[in-house]
Amino acid sequence: MTSNNTNPTTSREIHLAARPTGEPSPTDFELVTTDIPEPAEGQILVRNTWMSVDPYMRGRMDDAPSYIAPFALGAALEGSAIGEVVASKAPGIPVGASVSHFLGWREYAVVDAAAATVIDTSLAPEAAYLGPLGTTGLTAYAALTRTAPVRAGDVVFISAAAGAVGSVAGQLARELGASRVIGSAGGPAKTKKLLDTFGYDAAIDYRQGGIAQQLAQAAPDGIDVYLDSVGGDHLEAAIGAIRTGGRIALVGAISGYNTTEPAPGPNNLFRAATHEATLRGMLVSSHFDLFPEWIGKAAGLLADGTLRTEQTVVEGIEQAPDAFLGVLRGANTGKMLVRLAPDTPGLSA
Ligand code: NAP
Repeated sequence: MTSNNTNPTTSREIHLAARPTGEPSPTDFELVTTDIPEPAEGQILVRNTWMSVDPYMRGRMDDAPSYIAPFALGAALEGSAIGEVVASKAPGIPVGASVSHFLGWREYAVVDAAAATVIDTSLAPEAAYLGPLGTTGLTAYAALTRTAPVRAGDVVFISAAAGAVGSVAGQLARELGASRVIGSAGGPAKTKKLLDTFGYDAAIDYRQGGIAQQLAQAAPDGIDVYLDSVGGDHLEAAIGAIRTGGRIALVGAISGYNTTEPAPGPNNLFRAATHEATLRGMLVSSHFDLFPEWIGKAAGLLADGTLRTEQTVVEGIEQAPDAFLGVLRGANTGKMLVRLAPDTPGLSA
């Protein structure tokens, strides 16, 4: 085994202490100190530098069958993370490499080499691989190129538009030829950000209510594409505005993630029939084949300043539950991230 000699022997991690009903609270999480095991043959030890908190993790706190297994009670949570390889028993992954993997929510992780991807930090900083170059950026790309493809001249509506997926999606819609891009977000600071930073033509503050009326004002002739991250009244407003042949990507439904009763469906679904609109669900994991293409494109757009991104950073593993609770409440602009340690210094040539 190769290693650097400064490895500590213990790590802190966040366990699921209780399953929430409705909105989760800090007491549903527990900070636990554990011994760091030695990596076995074919494994690496990673000092996590960044971890992601994502809305879909709320579903994993429930003990219910879904597209991804529930988190186990009393065990460390999981999720996307980036880190530095500090010990390696895997031939293809040297000590000092920067890797992405799925054992976040902990300071150190022993990862099977097959479950880790070496990332190229000469293209973008490590944190970008959890945002625009990670699954959130890929979600926007797959949604707007495959699930609800944007065509030249389209009017496009994006919800949760100041968040990780939405802030990329609006700019991407423009790159794909949209003539007008409308975003919705909560509160005046975020709607200003949509217009000033993320390139939206019009912004809806959904907290003011009247989403359908605000959308009709922003898109008097209707919309061709809607990327739905919210569900509920946003989806109903989009169906109400959809033009003939329009496309809706069902990406998320965050307005219902903490509800204890099933959210009512849109009351105007037949309008999708009369307008021959397509409503299509998507899971980013079905589009990982697009990763190399998207990373190449996104790195170029980031480097030349075309793609503007932001991140909201919370410091330290002990703050990770707060960061997660914050993302569900809209405490983030751009990608919500937890910094666990300084960035990987990089491999010397
Ligand atoms: P995000 O947008 O960075 O964060 C979530 C945002 O949702 C918050 O910042 C908040 O912004 C907004 N929000 C919270 N409650 C809301 C409500 N009741 N109504 C309207 N907006 C609300 O998160 P993300 O990672 O980019 O994910 C966005 C959506 O895409 C989520 O629904 C997520 O589950 C989904 N997603 C799906 C896939 C997939 O494979 N299908 C992959 C990634 C993400 P405001 O301050 O504007 O309210």
